[in-house]
Amino acid sequence: MNQFLSRRLFILIPFVPFLKSVLNPLKVYAASKELIEDWSLTKDEWRKRLSPEAFNILREEGTERPFSSPLNNEKRKGIFYCAGCNLGLFSSDAKFDSGTGWPSFWESLENAIETKIDFKLIVPRTEYHCSRCGGHQGHVFNDGPQPTGKRYCNNGLALTFKPE
Ligand SMILES: [Zn+2]
Repeated sequence: MNQFLSRRLFILIPFVPFLKSVLNPLKVYAASKELIEDWSLTKDEWRKRLSPEAFNILREEGTERPFSSPLNNEKRKGIFYCAGCNLGLFSSDAKFDSGTGWPSFWESLENAIETKIDFKLIVPRTEYHCSRCGGHQGHVFNDGPQPTGKRYCNNGLALTFKPE
């Protein structure tokens, strides 16, 4: 390779990610299309998929009555999944009895949830939702047990449980 050409290639290095997306636009398009088809549903589409109670929680950030979910007393080993899209969110290994009347966990599975601050009760609370479909799950507080000190206070209607 002559010197002139190698210098030109060197200059192009910072643009490699950009060039890749230009040269490979079909792949990017296919990935985002898949995402839209699977999980960017309209409110009406979600309404068809979910029970009215689960819709209220997952898509309108509602909260179920405490002690109303059978999952509150679920003590078997297994995984708790998002009731909207079936992504695994919590392991039974991180479940504990918080006494609040909602299924509670001190840790989520990796990359399973995302958070945002809400001001519904004036005092700011950290809302969290499924990282795949955006369905609202519950709120996370800093009064949980070790090793994390977190308490993920989850609506049972937003979860399904599969025992191991
Ligand atoms: Zn989900």
